[in-house]
This record gives sequence, C-alpha cells and structure tokens, in this order.
Amino acid sequence: DSSTEVKVFVRIRPTAHFAQELIEYLPDGQSINVRQRRDSKRGVVNNQLCSWSFRLSGVLHDVSQEDVYNTVAHNVVIGALEGYNGTIMCFGQTGAGKTYTMTGANESYKQRGIIPRAIQQVFSEVENRNSSSFTVHLSYLEIYNETLVDLLSSVGGTRPGPAGLAVVEEARGGVSVKGLSLHPVHNEEEALNLLFEGEMNRIIGSHGMNKNSSRSHCIFTIYIESRSRTYSQARYITSKLNLVDLAGSERLGKTGSEGQMQKEAMSINRSLSFLEQAILALADRRREHVPFRQSKLTHALRDSLGGNCKTVLVANVYGEAAQIEETLSTLRFASRMKCVKTEPAVNEHIDP
Ligand code: ADP
Repeated sequence: DSSTEVKVFVRIRPTAHFAQELIEYLPDGQSINVRQRRDSKRGVVNNQLCSWSFRLSGVLHDVSQEDVYNTVAHNVVIGALEGYNGTIMCFGQTGAGKTYTMTGANESYKQRGIIPRAIQQVFSEVENRNSSSFTVHLSYLEIYNETLVDLLSSVGGTRPGPAGLAVVEEARGGVSVKGLSLHPVHNEEEALNLLFEGEMNRIIGSHGMNKNSSRSHCIFTIYIESRSRTYSQARYITSKLNLVDLAGSERLGKTGSEGQMQKEAMSINRSLSFLEQAILALADRRREHVPFRQSKLTHALRDSLGGNCKTVLVANVYGEAAQIEETLSTLRFASRMKCVKTEPAVNEHIDP
C-alpha cells in the first residue's frame, strides 16, 4: 500500500497577546489543546470552559519563514523533482497569515514565503542534478466567485480563449485546466517575475476585517519534466507542484459585507464548505462517492485531495482570545484533513 496521510501543520501568527490560558501545546510538538468559554446566550452551557484536543503533524509557533519552508515544503519539492505531484495549501481566516506563509512579505527577502523559496529550490536542484535535463513551466490560476481567471494571461501577449477556462479530467483521476496559459521558465529570476506579475493581477477586494485581503483562491503551479541524460531518452517523468492560497475561511455575517462583497463571501463560504464535504467524504473510507464537481476549487484540486499527490496543509490561526472561535473551526478542518489519504506515485512516461 503506497498510500500516505496528508500532512497537516498549524501555524500560529505571532502576537503580543497570545492566549496561553486558552491555547496550549504539548511537548510532543504535534498536539494542541484549545479551551473556549461557551457563550451563555446559547443557553445550553453557561459560561462553561470547554476543551478540544487536536493532533496534527506539527505546531509552528514563533517559527521563521525558513524553518516553515524546511518543515512544510522542502520534501514536497524534492518529491516533485523526482516525479511526484505535490500540493501545499494554506487555509484559515483572513489575516491569519496564509499569504504571508505562501508568498511572504513583498518588501523583505528574509520574509519571503513558500512560493519564492520553492522556485529557488527547484532551480538550484535542477543545476545540481546533471544526470537529467529539466523543463519547467508555470501557471497561476485564480478562482473568484466560481470563475476561473488566468493571472498570467497578460504575459507574452497570450489571451484567454473566448471559451474561457475549464477544469477537465484526465486519465487516472488527474485534472488540468483547459485554456490556462503555461509559461516556460529557465531560471529563478524569470519565475519570480511571473509570480510578481500574477500577484499584481490578483483581484483585491476590500473587506470588513482586512482591507487588502484577497477574496479568491489562488493556485500557483510549477510543472516539471525531466529526462535522464544517461538512460533511455524515451523515458521521462513529469510532476506538478500546486501552491495554494485559499480565500479566508471566516463565515459570512461577521464581516458585515453587502452587495458584491456579500456575493464574494457567499461564494467563498460555499466553495470552502464543498471543500470540507469532499474532505469528509475522503476521510470516510466507506464513502465511495466524493463530490469533487460541486465547485471549481474541489474540481481543480481533485488530484491533490485523495489522488496521486503528496499533500500538505498549513492551517493558519490567530493565537488571540478574540479569534478563538475561528481558530477552533480552522483546527477542526485541519484535523479532518489529516484523516485523508493520498496515493502518490511517480508519473513516468515513455515516448511512443
Ligand atoms: P491572510 O492571507 O491569511 O489574510 P496575511 O498573510 O495577509 O493573512 O497576514 C496578515 C498580516 O499579518 C500581514 O501584514 C502579514 O505580513 C502579517 N503576518 C502574518 N503572519 C505573520 C508571521 N508569521 N510573522 C509576521 N507577520 C505575519
């Protein structure tokens, strides 16, 4: 059996007001207990302290970007160079640090996130592995209100076709996005320029909780193909590495949004709740049908969830008492995700 569990990490955003009376992690580095004083308005429990325990793959608190990368992403990138698909995604409420984790703080090299570090690692490994020749491509997809947007369609004069983009299913449970532009890149700098261009194109909506928060899901994908220089030239391996920054998971109602904002919030709630449903179905081994096609997000991530992929989730949370409710709901999602198994296998091909 080649199946493997999804790895799930929780990253706690640094704060001067860490709620140590409510959040406790155990010396094993993997367990976290959260206490919450239940709202007396609910009438059932009256101001009673309830406690939940979660066991994850790791708890990251006061951990540098470099250490987060080494813990979360390094092995997935090595796997991608060896022909295994990989997915790393960040989940959590707006402001909890998803974009910081995935992309980093733009102005600071030291604080760069998983995507620029993965790009660097891919190209430094490619240089060191002289026995193979590598071809690298990139794409950058945004899912906004159930619409697929190519964030790199402006690059090199390419335009999305009139039919727009569509998730299509491939052989062996794989998926791809028809019409999404793929860009060849030869070095770190070219790849970073594309990332930057895609970031600029990302739709930024204002929002009651965080004015600059992105209200969309973004999937940055690195496609790697390698051929051995020494063995048969006909054999080659491919992989794709999905780096996913999900929209804020907080529920509608809290943010007081209206009109367009409300439509966005509803669309986000719906796609994240479909993501949860797909994960629940995957975690329950008795369920044969997994509802991937309910939303563009689950459909696009189909092979990352339960398929041929090494998958890692980073659950980003606040460590503050005021956000404990959202922190709990993020941790519940994370611990369900940990029950999901995937079946990574090398994507090997032979030229006809
Ligand atoms: P999200 O993408 O989840 O909405 P962001 O990544 O935009 O949240 O984070 C919100 C703010 O907090 C940003 O200014 C970001 O730079 C900062 N931030 C988040 N996590 C960290 C961290 N681990 N260390 C330092 N700053 C952080």
